[in-house]
Amino acid sequence: MPELPEVETIARDLRPHLTGARIRAVRVHKPDVLRDATPAAFRRALRGRTIASVGRRAKHLVLALDDGSRVVVQPRMTGSLHVTRERRRDPHTVLELTLAGRGRLIYRDVRRLGVVLVLPARRWETYSARLGPEPLEDGFTPEVLARALRGRRLAVKKAVMDQRLLAGVGNIYASEALWIARIDPSRPAEGLRGPEVAALHGAIVDVLARAVKGRGTTVRDYRTGRGEPGTFQGRLAAYGRGGEPCLRCRRRLALTHAIDGRATYFCPWCQS
Ligand SMILES: [Zn+2]
Repeated sequence: MPELPEVETIARDLRPHLTGARIRAVRVHKPDVLRDATPAAFRRALRGRTIASVGRRAKHLVLALDDGSRVVVQPRMTGSLHVTRERRRDPHTVLELTLAGRGRLIYRDVRRLGVVLVLPARRWETYSARLGPEPLEDGFTPEVLARALRGRRLAVKKAVMDQRLLAGVGNIYASEALWIARIDPSRPAEGLRGPEVAALHGAIVDVLARAVKGRGTTVRDYRTGRGEPGTFQGRLAAYGRGGEPCLRCRRRLALTHAIDGRATYFCPWCQS
């Protein structure tokens, strides 16, 4: 599932093509990705509008329209977005926006697990307010992270992946950040001491910033807004490396499913 660096990469790739573009036509080929709008209502909300800006919130791509509403795309497992001038249609195309003079924005999703929403300005504010702070924004400080973890008995890995506490971090970057910070992912979040919270804060910011630079991690399906795989998979220290040597202590990394039912990779020797 694309996390912050992957969706940020898609947003950056699409931005020059979409900013200021007028939506001339809207085609909904697979209406099941629309959650709260009929295809007709979705078309009405978008047609004739101009895309004012392209951004990201947590793991979601956000197109702001000129009337203040937002089109939110959650690509989940197999969704991808790109702009094309080609006429030929891919059978996995879910949504298609024809942009005046700028080709078409295509949302493609093989398994159709993604979600597309259109939210009027007020509903967008409510939606965004339910999500935690953005870790790559200046306001994200060790104190902000400490506040998010305070009083939480759940495993620290689950806490940093909880989108209401912190936006954009999922399984890959939670495993990486905890490895960098040398913290055992199963420890209760509330038990972290001040210096550990500071180390975790630094690790989260560091790994996300490097992964954005590397244009994201492709484990399976993720593609950038240019249709290419990311490059950060070659630089992961923990995720996907169970049984391989720890890059710090050379002993074997472990893989467990005991924390949240999902794969957690960590070093039982140097993460405590
Ligand atoms: Zn180690």
